[in-house]
Amino acid sequence: MIFSGSESMMLESVKKFATEKVRPRASQIDEEGEFPIDLVDGMKNIGLFSSYVPKKYGGLGYSLSTLMESIRIISRQCGSTSLILDVTVSLFAEPIVQFGSEYLKEEYLAKVAKGSVGALAITEPGAGSDAVAIKTTAVERGNKFILNGGKTFITNGKEAEFYVVSAMTDPAKKHRGMTLFIVDRKSAGLTIGNEFRKMGIRGTSTTEVLLENVEVDNDHILGKEGEGFKIEMETLNVGRIGIASQALGISEGAFDDIHRFVQSRKDSLGEWFQFRLADIAAELRSSRTNFEDAVIASESGKNSPLLSSISKVTAGDSAVSITSKGISLLGVNSLKEEFPLERRYREAKITQIYEGTNEIQRLIIGKEIIKGATV
Ligand SMILES: Cc1cc2nc3c(=O)[nH]c(=O)nc-3n(C[C@H](O)[C@H](O)[C@H](O)COP(=O)(O)OP(=O)(O)OC[C@H]3O[C@@H](n4cnc5c(N)ncnc54)[C@H](O)[C@@H]3O)c2cc1C
Repeated sequence: MIFSGSESMMLESVKKFATEKVRPRASQIDEEGEFPIDLVDGMKNIGLFSSYVPKKYGGLGYSLSTLMESIRIISRQCGSTSLILDVTVSLFAEPIVQFGSEYLKEEYLAKVAKGSVGALAITEPGAGSDAVAIKTTAVERGNKFILNGGKTFITNGKEAEFYVVSAMTDPAKKHRGMTLFIVDRKSAGLTIGNEFRKMGIRGTSTTEVLLENVEVDNDHILGKEGEGFKIEMETLNVGRIGIASQALGISEGAFDDIHRFVQSRKDSLGEWFQFRLADIAAELRSSRTNFEDAVIASESGKNSPLLSSISKVTAGDSAVSITSKGISLLGVNSLKEEFPLERRYREAKITQIYEGTNEIQRLIIGKEIIKGATV
């Protein structure tokens, strides 16, 4: 991945921020399930919320590579902090950059650049992997749509100021009858329901978002009516690279722990230890290569579902495998603050699940190959 001079300078400040500010807070955030408002402010201050927003809308106009690299660097220290940024930029702002009207860009991208948190609300009870099974409806009335339904497991649910929400405008047309809306948190009829306790990424809120007769102006449609499914899939193609980046960062953090542990031992750790290290190094390098391939393809306009899905599968599966192997290698030491492998293991698991489970990614990869994609 190639960075301009100013992008490289920003990445240096991200590294400094991650080691000096995020690292010392990560365990406390996890233990207390605390949304890290100080770190969100810190990310704003070093330009992370504005980095990917085009200059025209108040951002820095930096590349996708810079965004993904930033998520990776922060994930090495804390998977919660990086996810707040990732969801806001790659799931809320990115579809507006790609498909939003001039009005939506001016209205919402400028707010993200100033540090507003956003969310993508598509999952419903009974509609996770099958995105078209949603029951939320949007019925046109004059120049407005009236939304009714309930979303669940929404990251940033509690703190988001705005959501991209999927709803059926014409249920009979199935995926061609789905539309995406930008919905304001302050809309009458929108409430935050249950918040879920989680095994990892405990510093992010994961909540229900309930919609009862919520009025949304018809100029808040993303793309056109009926294009929601297509836009959702395109958004997730980029979003999955964000999750690969998060998973890769978690693996790299785990590798650093293991490496420091090895160097701290005076006694011989034996050949079996070297074999384990070799497996970990191979998994890490393969995820990094697949991640970089996916970022480069997406950045050059060749958005590739094959490469996005491969990057998510390899990075997510490796993150779980590497953190698990790390715990086995370090034994009781993996519980120490100095080598936080058990937290990283809990953070890694979700990367196999959200934004399309790794089983669904395998279905996409298989389908793309059968269609003729080159591997
Ligand atoms: C912490 C967390 C944060 C989340 N954040 C968000 C968010 O911000 N926004 C949002 O909209 N959603 C979010 N989600 C929801 C997440 O994207 C879904 O959980 C995910 O898509 C899987 O859906 P599901 O849990 O309903 O599982 P299901 O779809 O019920 O699947 C259950 C199991 O069956 C497998 N499966 C399903 N269909 C197939 C198939 N056709 N072939 C093979 N295997 C299959 C799946 O891989 C899985 O193992 C979040 C979830 C969690 C846990």
